[in-house]
Amino acid sequence: MALGEFELIRRFFAAAACARGGEGVALGIGDDCALLAPPPGEQLAVSTDTLVEGVHFPHDPPPLALGQRALAVAASDLAAMGAAPLGFTLALTLPQVDASWLQAFAEGLDAMALACGLQLVGGDTTRGPLSLTVTVFGTVPAGLALTRAGARPGDLLCVGGTLGDAAGALPLVLGQRSAPAALSEPLLARYWAPQPQFSLGLALRGLASAALDISDGLLADCGHISAASGVALQIEQSRVPLSDALQAFAGAPAAMQAALAGGDDYRLAFTLPAMYLPRLRQLGHEPSVIGKVVAGSGVYLIDDAGRDITPRQRGYQHFQEQP
Ligand code: ADP
Ligand code: MG
Repeated sequence: MALGEFELIRRFFAAAACARGGEGVALGIGDDCALLAPPPGEQLAVSTDTLVEGVHFPHDPPPLALGQRALAVAASDLAAMGAAPLGFTLALTLPQVDASWLQAFAEGLDAMALACGLQLVGGDTTRGPLSLTVTVFGTVPAGLALTRAGARPGDLLCVGGTLGDAAGALPLVLGQRSAPAALSEPLLARYWAPQPQFSLGLALRGLASAALDISDGLLADCGHISAASGVALQIEQSRVPLSDALQAFAGAPAAMQAALAGGDDYRLAFTLPAMYLPRLRQLGHEPSVIGKVVAGSGVYLIDDAGRDITPRQRGYQHFQEQP
């Protein structure tokens, strides 16, 4: 490596705006550990995500977009717990040192970090096949974290925005199809730079009975709320929100398929006692109500006549044979 490991860390990461330190970070990059100082009475929320080239993103990815995406997918888990953003670490494995690639990657990472309010506090840099592991830290007052358990029959089932855009954008991401900029730009942005829903997550504290972020597809992830809460979730297909861009690009049936089972949405799904909906609107959020919690187990999709139209394919799982 022409550029040494320490020079690389200093130039692209320690010198980034997001690594300057700030509230909640007593010591950042440069020592054996970072020291985090959550406010008194708050719990530390921690989550790790790994992205591997060829598995979680295509080969030879645009570096700026990759920097944004790597942080966004990890940060989304904090939002889903109702945690406020604090910091993150980055473990980066690179096949070689390419200064212009690193420059663009660090720029994307920095932009997403500043947008989320997350400070880079440490990491690790190694040589090998391209992969990224981001660990995020957030804070939440004890007892107020939004877990997957807690949904009760009668609660509304809501999502924080349109679904399926990122999965629908895959032919664009992989260069298999092209589309006019008016369609391709919003769809590619939803794949490469999903915006973690921090403000919604904070608003849901004390209101939502259960929450998660949708990463593996609506039906699969709702299955996690159903299992953890010991309830059934009923989704009305016609209420699942689809963007105009996705429907124009993919056609309505494929758009719905992407929304139900596609994955990579990073929108929040949550259950909410109906009496709290006005409060949530007062706080400036207009979620899409897509169904309700009922007694039983599992996730059911129904049509306008109330008929069960649940598909068998529910989402993506590593290590599972896809039917
Ligand atoms: P150690 O050998 O003690 O594990 P390293 O030499 O790997 O430490 O890293 C030196 C410092 O740089 C540490 O504070 C570490 O957290 C930080 N660091 C290493 N790689 C990165 C990176 N990719 N992004 C941010 N900080 C990093
Ligand atoms: Mg050390």
